[in-house]
Amino acid sequence: MIKITDLHKRFGQSEVLKGINLNIKQGEIVCIIGSSGTGKSTLLRCINFLERADQGTIELGGQQVDVTHASKTQILALRRASGFVFQNYALFAHMNARDNIAEGLITVQKQDKAKARQTAMQILTDIGLADKAQAYPASLSGGQQQRVGIARAMVLNPEILLFDEPTSALDPEWVGEVLSLMKKLAERHQTMLVVTHEMQFARDVADRVIFMADGLIVEQGVPNELFNSPKDPRLQRFLKQVI
Ligand code: ATP
Ligand code: MG
Repeated sequence: MIKITDLHKRFGQSEVLKGINLNIKQGEIVCIIGSSGTGKSTLLRCINFLERADQGTIELGGQQVDVTHASKTQILALRRASGFVFQNYALFAHMNARDNIAEGLITVQKQDKAKARQTAMQILTDIGLADKAQAYPASLSGGQQQRVGIARAMVLNPEILLFDEPTSALDPEWVGEVLSLMKKLAERHQTMLVVTHEMQFARDVADRVIFMADGLIVEQGVPNELFNSPKDPRLQRFLKQVI
């Protein structure tokens, strides 16, 4: 479903991704944990081509792309196959909640406005925010903004949703509602790759947890195994700090 092979990325002198290999099956929920600066965001950004990797292949959306020779059409197809949920929501400030969600349907999928807005309303209802359809981002709580951010990614029906610390910019009181929406998506078997500091979420929801250190995946497994009997000393140290 998504297959990443030998992905490398450097910024100047420093190699931030040093050969990432990762397969994710349809419906699988994978969480990525690891210390700051280990390349977690860079990996997600390279999958979505927000950043261009230097070497490796990405298989997604029915095609295999060599990142060094990716054509515009291939990049566009990869972007369509993956939906990105940002830490800071990144909503369009001048559009209400409904239009934020409808925008991708109109610009990417070329749907007509009325139909796109109708679909956006259905999603807002589904996530319990129908009454906020006309509200602009500035008047929504952090948790509501992030739920709209998730809805905006969901509406395009991507094969995989990529989350980069979706709750870390939120006041503690709003974290729960965002995590429950993500749990709901997981229960519907939406394929997800989630960079998170929420260890309890990873334990409860992930099928597999990946620990990154120094630009590599150094350990992975089902949550119980990884959290209860970590093998790599770096993971042991990391878990002592965060749990
Ligand atoms: P955090 O947990 O703090 O979010 P992370 O694991 O997501 O960390 P990345 O953001 O992927 O880490 O960054 C990995 C390394 O790459 C860091 O040393 C960072 O400074 C560097 N880096 C990231 N983006 C850029 C960029 N656009 N230009 C230069 N260096 C960058
Ligand atoms: Mg990051």
